[in-house]
Amino acid sequence: MKAEVREIKAEGWVCGKCQEPLRQLPVEITYMGSSFQVELPRCPVCGFTFIPPDLAYGKMREVEKLLEDK
Ligand SMILES: [Zn+2]
Repeated sequence: MKAEVREIKAEGWVCGKCQEPLRQLPVEITYMGSSFQVELPRCPVCGFTFIPPDLAYGKMREVEKLLEDK
């Protein structure tokens, strides 16, 4: 059974283009007509945002839950 990931760690990730360590930065995402701010590993130079597919899926589920609770 896989543990649910709650925090996205930026440590250890490096931008493939800039070789710059990714930093945990707030990113605005829009989903189902609402925007949310989540902290994701992001390159401070080119703005590349790293979203692992399984993590993105987990976040989307969280967002869906937020929408349902409203
Ligand atoms: Zn970069």
